[in-house]
Amino acid sequence: MSNFDLLIVGAGHAGAQAAITLRQMKFEGSIGMIGDEPEVPYQRPPLSKEYLAGDKEFERILIRPASFWQERDVDMLLGKRVVAVDAAGHEVTLCDGAKVRYGKLIWAAGGTPRLLTCAGAEANGVYAVRRRSDVDAMMAALPSVENVVIIGGGYIGLEAAAVMSKLGKRVTLLEALDRVLARVAGPELSAFYEAEHRAHGVDLRTGARMDSIEVSDGRATGVRMADGSVVPADMVIVGIGIIAEVEPLIAAGAAGSNGLDVDGYCRTSLPDVYAVGDCAAHENKFAEGRRIRLESVQNANDQAKLAVQHILGETVAEYEAIPWFWSNQYDLKLQTVGLSTGHDQTVLRGDPETRSFSVVYFRDDRVIALDCVNAVNDYVQGRALVIAGARLIWGDAR
Ligand code: FAD
Repeated sequence: MSNFDLLIVGAGHAGAQAAITLRQMKFEGSIGMIGDEPEVPYQRPPLSKEYLAGDKEFERILIRPASFWQERDVDMLLGKRVVAVDAAGHEVTLCDGAKVRYGKLIWAAGGTPRLLTCAGAEANGVYAVRRRSDVDAMMAALPSVENVVIIGGGYIGLEAAAVMSKLGKRVTLLEALDRVLARVAGPELSAFYEAEHRAHGVDLRTGARMDSIEVSDGRATGVRMADGSVVPADMVIVGIGIIAEVEPLIAAGAAGSNGLDVDGYCRTSLPDVYAVGDCAAHENKFAEGRRIRLESVQNANDQAKLAVQHILGETVAEYEAIPWFWSNQYDLKLQTVGLSTGHDQTVLRGDPETRSFSVVYFRDDRVIALDCVNAVNDYVQGRALVIAGARLIWGDAR
């Protein structure tokens, strides 16, 4: 039976960062990394951007070249899924029944795309955008695709819409709520992106209630709406969020539901088990102490570093890295910092007409977040204001 001093489950952003940090900090014990995808860790953000557009080869989105892991003596067990964890016995079980023992376990299993539950959801031609294999399958199908329907107006749906329209496809984007990005941004930003996509020819529909996927010979041919109309589709891309990959640990008794509950050092409630990245639910200072999961590369990297420092006995402060995120659509670079949820006031800096502006979010007169579109300076300065919790003294203008 394999036995590792440090076992990482999940060969994605957080898992890779944990292994990198361990070796950077001169950890001399054995490291194993189990991942259910066949690839060594790669960057996920390009999957809905440059990689989907065909502008970047897969090798260029690897987090480290394949040789790196061998040179650093990180044992990769790829194409294998952990199905059970025995926390008391310090042992995990793989899908093929093999057991792997560990001294400490870092759970970095990310999330799996939320699927449609309607009729036709499993037809050929319906895709999620989470893994390289999803995007490779989409790219292989693209030459015979004319009409693309995207379900979900979050970042991934919007990025996919931008790529598909750049590739010359006829794109319809269906968002069930009354605006895109409703979960993560204020109405000003939503309105701006809706206008941009429409200007690029995307048929963007908000308040759009779909009923089912139309299927012929096992292939998706359209999306039937609640009013009975059908939007033709040769390809349906579903971007409606993820479900945290946590079942084996929850079954083993770990606290959590939507993510594994972790403390300020990313420890779960199970002994010697840490959780980091998209699957970890932590109490976040920038969300007024509420327990949240963040789905961003920044969070995956920062939590992985912190967990490793804690495991190695470093004196570290509890996790309170400021959340930040980016999204590229057309020639627009959005950078966000802080969490805008719960804001009670916004100020628009610059003019959306110029395609360079920022939305500044306030709660109780304090700057809590910024969304900056093609406005790097605002992002840099705004970040400092959010970290400082800067309070705005309103002048007579209000
Ligand atoms: P992941 O990177 O998902 O890695 C988890 C790995 O664990 C996966 O390989 C998974 O298959 C594997 N796994 C799951 N369960 C098991 C198991 N039981 N056994 C073994 N292996 C398992 N973030 C940004 O900050 N900016 C962006 O612009 C951005 N764009 C994105 C675009 C797309 C298309 C996607 C999908 C995500 C994007 N994100 C972006 C989010 C970012 O990629 C994630 O937050 C980040 O990948 C989280 O890292 P992670 O290590 O927690 O999870």
